[in-house]
This record gives sequence, structure tokens and C-alpha cells, in this order.
Amino acid sequence: MLSEKVKNKYPWVQLAHAPTPLERMNNLSKDYSTGQRDVNLWIKRDDCTGLAMGGNKARQLEFYLGDALDQQADTILTTGAIQSNHVRMTVAAAHKLGMYCEVQLEERVSDRPSAYYQSGNPFLVSMLGAKVHKYPVGEDEEGADRALYQRAEELNQQGRHAYVIPLAPNHAPLGALGYVLVAEELLQQLGQQSLDAVVIASGSGSTHSGLLVGLRALGCNANVYGICVRRNAELQKARMFKRCQEVAQMIGQPDLITESDIIVTDAVLSPGYGRLNDATTEAIYKAGRREGILLDPTYSGKAMAGLFHLLDKKDLNLQGNIVFLHTGGAPGAFGYPELSSLNLEHSSE
Ligand SMILES: *Cc1c(COP(=O)(O)O)cnc(C)c1O
Repeated sequence: MLSEKVKNKYPWVQLAHAPTPLERMNNLSKDYSTGQRDVNLWIKRDDCTGLAMGGNKARQLEFYLGDALDQQADTILTTGAIQSNHVRMTVAAAHKLGMYCEVQLEERVSDRPSAYYQSGNPFLVSMLGAKVHKYPVGEDEEGADRALYQRAEELNQQGRHAYVIPLAPNHAPLGALGYVLVAEELLQQLGQQSLDAVVIASGSGSTHSGLLVGLRALGCNANVYGICVRRNAELQKARMFKRCQEVAQMIGQPDLITESDIIVTDAVLSPGYGRLNDATTEAIYKAGRREGILLDPTYSGKAMAGLFHLLDKKDLNLQGNIVFLHTGGAPGAFGYPELSSLNLEHSSE
């Protein structure tokens, strides 16, 4: 089995509740099926991985923290945006494994109301009790990593053994291995049914590259559509191709991925990372109203908007069993009070 092979080669520690459910979205399937085209829309519930409100990072952290334990680290350092789900789950994972954790929060999204800084993920990070450092810029991945390694050096001089989970793509994509495992989990859940397409948020690309490489390694040729949430399609495509080659190399199948395997669209990215647009707001409302599913403005809501965009194009290649990967992130929605139309102020009467 592929997952056994990967876990034998790379240290792994269990953190996620898995397998996560695979559910059919009955109402949206009906909405988008027409005379010419039948779609079965499925949702893979990686928002339900269980680690401090869940999300895709639990899968990635199983390999990072497995590596940290293997190296006998006692301290974990990582970096992310103010509303980073990765930072929230890293703190939870470190504490669960008895380690000390410090995190760095980057100023990536400008002009946000105070809720963005106080509610949702940063609120949960403070409840989990990590020491927080601020980092003034959000578009300097290597600078953010350098700051982490400097802090690690200081902590090591105090006698700690610090392990850094870096952000920039000049490090082995250990976290992507988590989604190589998910490819196998997903195909097992589908059983005899074909997998025709996967739609997925593409940010750092660990999720996208891991799932794509895993599917190809298992002989599945389904199109994997990456919805850009961080950078434009041209940059993301180049990044993903490189990422996929690295992941394929790590699992011992270096020539597995060709450039034509990389499909990305930035149709719903504007005006940029962590910023709402109409398509995303509508997708968040539609998922809630039609399926009772909660999404967030930065990642899963944009990915869902990307799925609707692809379906609206009436591309006949996109039919059959289509799996939307819910990567989580709903806690981040609390940093976007503009999504709510309610005004239920407490009255003194
Ligand atoms: C981090 C994150 C993503 C993006 O995953 P990558 O592996 O970085 O591409 C998508 N959705 C949510 C909710 C996330 O927190």
C-alpha cells in the first residue's frame, strides 16, 4: 500500500481524525445537473480532522511533527497570516505532543477591521496559549522563515531543541505527504465508483501537490483543479509543477507528473489573498443555504467559488464524480464580520 510505504520512509505521528467523511452534496448535484451533463458532487470533509477545529493542516502536521519527534525536538516554531489556520493547528498539535510552541503572525492583508486581529484564528491561538511574535510583512516568505530560524537559534542557546516548520518553497514539502495518504483514503471511499475530477484550494500547494501525486501514483487520472487563493495562475502553475516533482521524487517515482497534470485557475482570486470578492461571498452563502456547509473567505470559500465557476462554464469534460476537498478554515470567517447581515445589538430594555 502506498500509505504504508510513505509512512515507513518518513516519520509520521497521528493527529487527524481519519478517514474523514466523504458526503454527496445532493442539492448542489441536482442544481448543476442538466440534460447534457450529469454531475455527482461530493465533499471530502477535511474540515473534520478534529485537531482544534480541524482543517487540512492536521494531515500535513502529521509528517512535520513526526519529523520533529524523530529529531527529538521539544519546541515548534512556525509562521502564517494573522488568520492562519496552519498556525492554530500547529499550536494545538505541539501542545498535544507535549511540546512548547511559538508562532509568528504576518501582516498579509491590509485594511481589515479589528475582528480580523482579535476573532477567529488569533483568538483560538491565544486560547491555546502560544507565544506570538508579529512579522510586519506578508509577502516575504524567505524573510519570515529567516526570522523563525533566528528565534530558533535563541531558543537553542537557552537549552531548547527547536524545530522550524518553514513557509518558503526551498524546503522539502513534508506536509504534502499527508495528502498523498489522502489520495489513497479517497479512492478507497469511492470503491468501485470512478473519480473524475477533484477541486481543491491551491495556496502553498502542499495539499494540491500531495493529492495529485498520490492519485497518479495510484493510477488515477482524474483532473485535479487547483483554485488559486494566494498568487496568480502563472506563478502558481510553475510553483506547483516544481512542488509535484519534489513530492514524486520523495515517494520514489520522479517522473510521475507532467506539466499537463497541473491545472490551476485564478478566476476567483481577485482582489487577492485573504480578500473577499462577490463570487466568494455568493459561494459561501450558497454552500450554507443548499448544503449546510460552512466555508471561509480566504480558502474554502474561494475554492467553492472556483468549483461553481468551472461548473458554470458548462465544460463537458467536467462531469461524473467530482470531489470538492473541504480544507477547513471556517474559524477564519469570524475575522470577516462583513459577511453577516445581522445587527442584533444587545438592547437594555
Ligand atoms: C492552508 C489552507 C489551504 C491551502 O493549503 P496549501 O496546502 O497551503 O495549499 C486551504 N484551505 C485552508 C482552510 C487552509 O488553512
